[in-house]
Amino acid sequence: MKNRIINLLSELVKINSVNATISGGPGEKEISGFVARYLTKLGLDPEIQPAAPDRTNVVALIPGINRNGSLLLNGHLDTVGVEGMDAPFSLKQEGDKLYGRGTYDMKGSIAVMLLLAEYFTHHPPPISTLFTFVADEEDRSAGMEYLIKRWLPKFSPFPSGGIFLEPTELEIGVSHKGVSWYEIEVIGKAAHGSRPSEGVDAILPLRSALEELNNIQSELLNTEADPLLGHATLHASIIDGGTALSVIPSRSRLKWERRTLPKESQNLLNLELERVIQAVKSFPGNHDVKGREIFVRPPYEISKEAKVLTCLQDASPQSKLVGLSFWSDSALCGKAGIPSVLFGPIGHGAHATDEWVSLKSLIRVYEILKKLILFFEVPVR
Ligand SMILES: [Zn+2]
Repeated sequence: MKNRIINLLSELVKINSVNATISGGPGEKEISGFVARYLTKLGLDPEIQPAAPDRTNVVALIPGINRNGSLLLNGHLDTVGVEGMDAPFSLKQEGDKLYGRGTYDMKGSIAVMLLLAEYFTHHPPPISTLFTFVADEEDRSAGMEYLIKRWLPKFSPFPSGGIFLEPTELEIGVSHKGVSWYEIEVIGKAAHGSRPSEGVDAILPLRSALEELNNIQSELLNTEADPLLGHATLHASIIDGGTALSVIPSRSRLKWERRTLPKESQNLLNLELERVIQAVKSFPGNHDVKGREIFVRPPYEISKEAKVLTCLQDASPQSKLVGLSFWSDSALCGKAGIPSVLFGPIGHGAHATDEWVSLKSLIRVYEILKKLILFFEVPVR
């Protein structure tokens, strides 16, 4: 098993699949071709899906003995960029550590999924098992959006559980925070710096916005923390405005990020945005202000009774239930009605230059998921 994982991971790492939104990133076209060929050689009939122009998913089904249910396994094919790395696309082994871009996040898991597909083509699983390899998890989740909106509604039987093989240090990821991005724009009036009375400064009112964000941040830290995820947070991310040193600025913009908890409502987030807008309006002057939500990724938490969770706990009793610091496609799957857990290898350096995955932990992931699939039962509806 060791050598099979090393060889397969080496092939996967060799293929540059840096997300296409990153400069020089080719996206998933080549790696999805590799995955599809691998599955075809096993005798499966993989479907290549056009998630977006030049962005492809690969999906393959292994029919189960019981055709009434299905279980979904998921991995993303893209990686983050490789800036600062010496040899990102060649696998290097040092003891148990396998170095290279994507080894940990998450080509090691893609190798595990392919080996599981291989095992279950020879030993039909109790219920149908759906292997989904998606594009674009590291940016806007175009792959998972396609899968959920365009493909899953046509697929039967609808999966009764999902497993996302993101790196979790062999713990069971049951929740993660959401991400929401906001922007306000302040509009003033330009004037020469020597005649400020003729203009309306659009930068100064940001002071009230920053103060209000600071107030909200303090309140969040004083609200009861989620036992696994801690407190909700926010931070100011980008400020821009003004055109020249001798000009009263006619425009400014402030963007911030809010990390949300599963118990927080959209209404609460809308109110926070409104508070910041009102704070800027209250700042003395004739400026105008507009605000909007730019982007939302929901938080996620699986029900403690979900079959996929209890089965995974049975298959891996030593694993703790943990909240994860990163956002994942599992939130979209959960929202679409598929209770989903995260479970993957030990390693280090996702999104960093010294990325590695533990070989032993990949073997554990393989063994535990094999056991889970063998014992997964379809929940009674
Ligand atoms: Zn990932």
